[in-house]
Amino acid sequence: MQALHLTGLSQPELSEFEATLGEPAYRARQIFAGIHARRLRSFEEMTDLPKELHAKLGERATIATLTLESRYISSDGTRRYLFKTHDNRPVETVFIPEERRDTICFSSQSGCPLQCTFCLTAQLGLLRNLTAGEIVEQIIVALNDAYGVGLKTPRGTNLVGMGAGEPFLNFDELMKALRIMKEPNGLHIVANRITVSTAGIVPRIRELATIPDRPHLAISLAAPNDELRNELMPINKKWPIEELMSACKDFEKALKRGERFTFEYVMLRGVNDSDEHARQLANLLNRYGLHAKVNLIPHNPAEPLPYQPSPIERVEAFQAILESKGVHTYIRRPRGRDILAACGQLAARSTVNITAPPKFSERRTA
Ligand code: SAH
Repeated sequence: MQALHLTGLSQPELSEFEATLGEPAYRARQIFAGIHARRLRSFEEMTDLPKELHAKLGERATIATLTLESRYISSDGTRRYLFKTHDNRPVETVFIPEERRDTICFSSQSGCPLQCTFCLTAQLGLLRNLTAGEIVEQIIVALNDAYGVGLKTPRGTNLVGMGAGEPFLNFDELMKALRIMKEPNGLHIVANRITVSTAGIVPRIRELATIPDRPHLAISLAAPNDELRNELMPINKKWPIEELMSACKDFEKALKRGERFTFEYVMLRGVNDSDEHARQLANLLNRYGLHAKVNLIPHNPAEPLPYQPSPIERVEAFQAILESKGVHTYIRRPRGRDILAACGQLAARSTVNITAPPKFSERRTA
């Protein structure tokens, strides 16, 4: 029998499990806080529980299923964690330190089923969906590594669901992970501090619009017309640009005042970065009356991807055209390229400047 993964249980589910062990109700709260607020990685570290309970829990359940294989540190301070799941699938998480606030980028799937031609993760194919518990564990380990086991998370640390995988093809587990993470008795990371990115799974964009406590949304566009987008992002053949834009418009109507969503546009030299592409993009957004921001992401190259990043002058010229047509545009600075930690570079590869895994044990306890 596989051990029950407690990290992926909501507080009520944990209470139910505790009841089957014949334990008093307050134990569930203690264990939930041990996993999520204190970010402990084994039952033995939960010194507020009786020793007999450690053993009893250990027979039936586990809290640490991800094994940290490697931690890579970039010259810019970005950290990439490469984990293995209990069934030996790769999972990657990235910690991005920033001056004002830090960001943790988590994965929703091992590999990815989408076949975006500019993304290295696509080359893995889909290995499997991650469970809610595996999503939450990524955050726990990254927080412990960055700030110390159980120590307070600085206010404003943000999460982005922009790692490997398509979060909206693993919607239920993703949403469950977000519900677990927002608990005040746990990680206490609320939806407002989380951004989830999709390649354009239209029905889930519409569904997200109906959820009151929802994360921010980013949509990966990469091309302003169907012909080019079909080529770069084959998911466009299923949900073409007009359908995507009309879902975006409905999503925008559901936003609170002042809230915005984002489009991401990877800049591929000589492919999607001309003045004409910029005009088409601005016209598209304006035609739908969308007030979204556009994030331009210079392509992060990696063998054997057949693209190069647009030169910065091209990116700036592209931005200027969008801005001149009233579209707010930001240029995203690449982070962690040297350790294959930047957008679109996660493919479970090892890189050179490897450092030893952190001291605290991330080994499986079960
Ligand atoms: N599948 C989701 C979540 C991944 S987010 C999605 O597509 O939105 C990863 C972001 O990085 C996406 O915006 C994607 O378009 C972008 N990206 C992928 N490969 C890239 C590359 N090689 N260089 C720069 N950005 C890339």
